[in-house]
Amino acid sequence: MKTKELIENEKEYLMQTYNRPAMVLNKGEGMKVWDLEGKQYYDFIGGIAVNALGYSHPKLVQAIKDQAEKLIHCSNLYYSEPQIILAQMLVELSCGDKVFFGNSGAEVNEGAIKIAVKYFKDQGKDKHKIIYMKNSFHGRTIATLAATGKYKYQKDYLPLLPKFKETIFNDLESVKAAVDDQVAAIIVEPIQGEGGINIASKEFIEGLRELCNKKDMLLIFDEIQCGLGRTGKVFAYQYYNVEPDILTLAKSLGGGLPIGAFIAKEKVASSFKPGDHGTTFGGNPVACAAANAYLKVLQEENLIAKCQEKGEYFKKKLKELKEKYPKFIKEARIIGLMVGLEIEKDGPEIVKKCLEKGVLINCTAGNVLRFLPPLIVKEEEIDYLIEVLDKIFKKL
Ligand SMILES: *Cc1c(COP(=O)(O)O)cnc(C)c1O
Repeated sequence: MKTKELIENEKEYLMQTYNRPAMVLNKGEGMKVWDLEGKQYYDFIGGIAVNALGYSHPKLVQAIKDQAEKLIHCSNLYYSEPQIILAQMLVELSCGDKVFFGNSGAEVNEGAIKIAVKYFKDQGKDKHKIIYMKNSFHGRTIATLAATGKYKYQKDYLPLLPKFKETIFNDLESVKAAVDDQVAAIIVEPIQGEGGINIASKEFIEGLRELCNKKDMLLIFDEIQCGLGRTGKVFAYQYYNVEPDILTLAKSLGGGLPIGAFIAKEKVASSFKPGDHGTTFGGNPVACAAANAYLKVLQEENLIAKCQEKGEYFKKKLKELKEKYPKFIKEARIIGLMVGLEIEKDGPEIVKKCLEKGVLINCTAGNVLRFLPPLIVKEEEIDYLIEVLDKIFKKL
């Protein structure tokens, strides 16, 4: 089947929840991906921060093949080796003590919320409310949608669960004002992704930690987008010297296979007992083998240090671009390879033009061009992107 026929069938057979450009991706290698017609693209959105090793990394592919030949699935009725190895690696890397595996970001955020409430229930306390931030994104399930501070996503599903309270990102006073005895936890992305690459201030994150300690609440960091190397550190919380009680991960964890995890401190983790939570697919052997390969490659190829270097280079290039178009570019926000370029207008139009010129990017929060390239991106590939943007901006 060729492009046109496939797209017609997509319109016929899939629920129309996505606005996609008229090309069908077929094959990728490193930073490059080709559509069915053979057109080549540099991928600067990386499967939305998922393809951190780029496409078809040989070690990732090999790990998936090897595990698929041995054992694809066995359910959580039984132990399997890749799951246990991965849990140990994540605990050793992070500030957490115990892991639960799910299949997606939303699902592990749900789990994080559940365990926070259970933790207090075990102590006989009626704490069940969750504080979240405006412009946050925590997922599309009913509970995580209620914690997602974007009215556009919420409006058609009202009333949402009543236990969620919205506050303002980077405004500690607004959070303080929302706290009462029934609040179990605060959930926050240290770097908001979908919200437009908004970086939390040190005072804010430190203030949240202090507030949680003082008011007997748990602090949940959603590092689904910003975690696992993307910011130039393994976890974004390491920029703040603040540890969460619960940490959620997904996106890049499986190098492209669907897997999520929430990791909690022992005192919290121990409130889950056999039967308290579960999933059929979570911690699937192949997904875990892929995640193990991802974490190994991160270390072997020194990708986190490289991410910091490439981020600095990207920053320099964006600064030059901003100097060239001071009115059109409002702000460049960048940490590691998590990059947002806030522009005056025409975000979606620019995404379209980039695609025509063979570069995949995306636009979020209205007018923020977002770049989440694989951590293997090279300087000359960043140069190419900047050239393309320059050409597009010049004509506007
Ligand atoms: C993508 C994302 C989610 C949701 O993940 P899904 O796998 O799409 O459910 C949650 N939180 C953050 C910060 C994300 O970027």
